[in-house]
Amino acid sequence: MYKNLLEGLSPVTQTIDSGKALAEYLGIEGDLPETIALANGARLTLSSKKDCYYMTTPKSCSCKGFTYRRTCKHIKELECSSSWLFSNLGVRFNLPEAA
Ligand SMILES: [Zn+2]
Repeated sequence: MYKNLLEGLSPVTQTIDSGKALAEYLGIEGDLPETIALANGARLTLSSKKDCYYMTTPKSCSCKGFTYRRTCKHIKELECSSSWLFSNLGVRFNLPEAA
């Protein structure tokens, strides 16, 4: 079931219940985590209304903003967090500084 979340080309918005179940499965503490890290650099991000989880990958996102603009804050946040992760693993990239 967990693997199936990542199949297919476009990310799919998950229900709050799926997010909760996944967080529990992954052993994440707390009621509704803001983000849930997945495999392959993808993650789920809690919507601002806290009514669903957007599926965000480095190239795509299931939120409405991405559908209109082909980019969104979730992807930018994902980029920031993964460059943070890589720098903490000792891998350096020549990424522009975040504004
Ligand atoms: Zn988004």
